[in-house]
Amino acid sequence: ALGLFSLLAAQAQNTATEDSWKAVYRATPEKVNDLVHTKLQAAFDYDKSQLNGKVWLTLRPHFYGTDSLHLDAKGMDIQSVAIVNNNSNQPLKYSYKNDVLHINLNKTYSRAESYTVYIQYTPKPNDYKAKGSAAITDAKGMYFINPKGTEKDKPTQIWTQGETEATSVWVPTIDKPNQKTTQEFYLTVPAKYVTLSNGLLISQKQNGNGTRTDYWKMDQPHAPYLFFIGIGDYAVVKDSYKGKEVSYYVERPYEKVARKIFGYTPEMMKLFSDKLGVEYPWAKYAQITGVDYVSGAMENTTATLHGSGAQQDARELLDGNNWEETIAHELFHQWFGDLVTAESWSNLTVNESFANYSEVIWAEHKHGKDEADFINMRDMNGYIQSGSEEKHLVRFHYADKEDMFDAVSYNKGGRILHMLRNYVSDDAFFKSLNNYLTTNKFKTGEAHQLRLAFEETTGKDLNWFFNQWYFSNGHPKLDIKYSYNAESKQALIVVKQTQANKVYTLPTSIDVYYGNKRERHQVWVDSKEDTFYINANTKPDLIQFDGDRVLLAERKDNKSLQEHLHAFRNTGKYLDRREALDAAAKNLSKPEALAFIVNEGLKDQFFRIRLL
Ligand SMILES: [Zn+2]
Repeated sequence: ALGLFSLLAAQAQNTATEDSWKAVYRATPEKVNDLVHTKLQAAFDYDKSQLNGKVWLTLRPHFYGTDSLHLDAKGMDIQSVAIVNNNSNQPLKYSYKNDVLHINLNKTYSRAESYTVYIQYTPKPNDYKAKGSAAITDAKGMYFINPKGTEKDKPTQIWTQGETEATSVWVPTIDKPNQKTTQEFYLTVPAKYVTLSNGLLISQKQNGNGTRTDYWKMDQPHAPYLFFIGIGDYAVVKDSYKGKEVSYYVERPYEKVARKIFGYTPEMMKLFSDKLGVEYPWAKYAQITGVDYVSGAMENTTATLHGSGAQQDARELLDGNNWEETIAHELFHQWFGDLVTAESWSNLTVNESFANYSEVIWAEHKHGKDEADFINMRDMNGYIQSGSEEKHLVRFHYADKEDMFDAVSYNKGGRILHMLRNYVSDDAFFKSLNNYLTTNKFKTGEAHQLRLAFEETTGKDLNWFFNQWYFSNGHPKLDIKYSYNAESKQALIVVKQTQANKVYTLPTSIDVYYGNKRERHQVWVDSKEDTFYINANTKPDLIQFDGDRVLLAERKDNKSLQEHLHAFRNTGKYLDRREALDAAAKNLSKPEALAFIVNEGLKDQFFRIRLL
């Protein structure tokens, strides 16, 4: 049974790998040299799915003087390496192995001196196989789609995907998120195609041989994983925001509907700029689609790439634009991720939790609080069902950096921001984000910088919050019981934390309703079992724990049907209404349950309640 044996061997190997990563501390990459500027000349060879590359990299020692430079350069042919001295190239000694180019500089440079190295090279993205990741079978960095036009009905495109560290398949660089560089790209392509890259298109030159060279310039620094090149036969539809070009690159059949898909972009740019108090930071914003894209979408600076699922036809769009949240998500990354970048993949959540949460911010603005609450609930359930209770939000141990892109970094991180916003207040939340962005712009951030920004802005100590949510794992499981003592004229709320090995500190509220009148009590839950007594001359119609319904928790709520119906009619909260319908559906033998569903539930103002 060779097959079975092979299978078992493979499993044994996997188990070994699974254990070994736990001992590996994923240190933030040391900065020996800092990237300063990247100037690239690339001519694309569609027959070989290669490009002929020349790059000039300007760097500077980060702190300590150094006479060597290590560049990530994955699976390339290196033709020459030189130092640029007064416009002449002096060859440098180098060695190239294990995807790292080791260069001996011509002298020891101090941090006061920058230097420029020139490299001539040929990337071979189609031959490059990324190792060690179960989630991503390849990370070619640059993708030639139908390069010879042999596949009928498929457009010919080139697009790049840098995150996490695949930009260095097509350009030698220091391919780490804690590096930032300005850039100039000269792209020589068949004249019939359009190009898109980071920054602004400065000039175009016809070469007289059927090719054209486009010169793109990005004069604000950003991380190499955000480099982007897109080339193809696209229709380019243009909008604008405060004088900046906002454009949508789509396959020609979608030109007419491009604005129906992407047309909210300027409104989103205004909303996010206003909320954050930081104006959209870059020179333009373009969005492009890619055939056979390996992910959903990617926030390349000023040039977001979307999978072709974004391209919906007029008929599909009648049922709504299913890409709207993704458009908000990638746009918000232009601040959280591109302007301030996670300093390491361990801290990925300072990119992804914000992009995730931006979907809520947009929904609140455009579609109302019910839709925002729905997204919060959906994404919280996504995290809870992912079975990731053992994972910390900020993780220095992982099997592969791709594993960081999970329901913890995204969904859980987004819900933690939602709780933080509720705790510090709306105003303080966005002021703190402004503080974080302005303090760290064009640099990197980690969870600590976020904490410091919130602490400085609000004056509150938040160490406990970050320790509990960012540097620890799991979530509370609450069992909540309500009762009323007519003799002592007190309402009693007992909150039990039933999860193992841990007690959470949860600042929250208890809302007591008499008819539609609400009385709010602020409380802190911080024990295995907390009992709260609230004076009440008459029995309340409803007591609601976590009145704003923002806690990231699994919740067993021991309410009567009557209390659920009262919540439906009086709190105005999406979750309360949804739970009331669930409760009624479970009590169909009671006549009031059916009457409620028919007369109220199915007539709710929010379509997602009616659809239930
Ligand atoms: Zn994202």
